[in-house]
Amino acid sequence: MGIQVPFVDLRAQYRQLKVEIDAAIATVLEEAAFVRGKYVEAFEQAYAKAHGVRHCIGVGNGTDALYVALRALGVGPGDEVLVPALTWISTAETVSHLGARPVFVDIEPDYYTLDPCHAEHCVTERTRVIIPVHLYGQPADMEKLLNLARRYSLIVLEDCAQAHFAQYHGQLIGTFGTIAAFSFYPSKNLGAYGDAGAILTNDDALAHFIRIFTNHGSLTKYEHEIEGINSRLDGLQAAILSVKLRYIHQWNRQRAEHAQLYSELLADVEEITLPHIRPGCTHVFHLFVIRTPRRDELQHYLTSQGIQTQVHYPRALPFVPAYRRFGHHPDEFPVAWQYQHELLSLPLYPELTETQIRYVAEHLKAFFVHQRPRIVRP
Ligand SMILES: *Cc1c(COP(=O)(O)O)cnc(C)c1O
Repeated sequence: MGIQVPFVDLRAQYRQLKVEIDAAIATVLEEAAFVRGKYVEAFEQAYAKAHGVRHCIGVGNGTDALYVALRALGVGPGDEVLVPALTWISTAETVSHLGARPVFVDIEPDYYTLDPCHAEHCVTERTRVIIPVHLYGQPADMEKLLNLARRYSLIVLEDCAQAHFAQYHGQLIGTFGTIAAFSFYPSKNLGAYGDAGAILTNDDALAHFIRIFTNHGSLTKYEHEIEGINSRLDGLQAAILSVKLRYIHQWNRQRAEHAQLYSELLADVEEITLPHIRPGCTHVFHLFVIRTPRRDELQHYLTSQGIQTQVHYPRALPFVPAYRRFGHHPDEFPVAWQYQHELLSLPLYPELTETQIRYVAEHLKAFFVHQRPRIVRP
């Protein structure tokens, strides 16, 4: 006993980078480069270059990145946007905020991302955009989704909040669609020390619109070309992100190695389903998500052993109160409906130790060996 395994440990990463991060922060403070300015430009350029994309525009957070991208695409009342039934609410709420309708699509049983076949059934003459979410760090099925988009003239907006630098058949996610939204929320694979986000696109006109829209409709103070909003990446976050960008590949590798070890240690536990990696893809394991029908009992047991877990997500979006107005039925999203009761995210972050991983695996096994099911299914 005695080992504690937190779900994430953001302080561990800060301690490793303290010298570099503190220096970066001090420089921004000295120069008072708080809003826009050279540290923001430097990060935007580095992030665009790392993806081989023409434009990166920093924004206030990942939700704004989605909202602004949809706004730039001209989405509005009467439009429908396809979004996965299982994702963080940002993917859908930003659609509603523009007066359009989020149309939920079920997820693939093995990979948890937007199901291209179900998506095709959901297309109507009002569908304008499809938002694949690279959920848990795994690329969505981009080949099929791009095909679908081509056939029905849909615009592809990638939600990359959970999958920085994951690859689909050797190509980075965020470079497939017309536009891509990233979040740098602190616990994401590439995380700032507060809210931050970015948009990637190769489209000059979209990039120009986004630059002015997110800065009160102007590039030059008081020259408001349009009405906009205030959603900017700030200098401190940009300077921090520039430091962290140098480590992201190492961190993603460590995450994948930890996931591999979990999978090896848990391979013979019949009661759980381990994450599957889509063939030809890299999975950057923002989350390590297993499935078991005894999810709640298992979570309770692990908590009692000092192991923190979370559920992503306890309610698929069609069934949260915010979307009650659509009157959705479980039969419309059989996979998301069933999985919301079974998904469990185990602790996973780069600094997790082998001892901690083995401890989690041992207790998980012990649960299935020693704890009889309380509910015996007929
Ligand atoms: C985190 C997240 C967002 C939103 O990012 P914020 O920076 O928290 O606004 C959007 N989509 C998905 C899938 C996310 O996980």
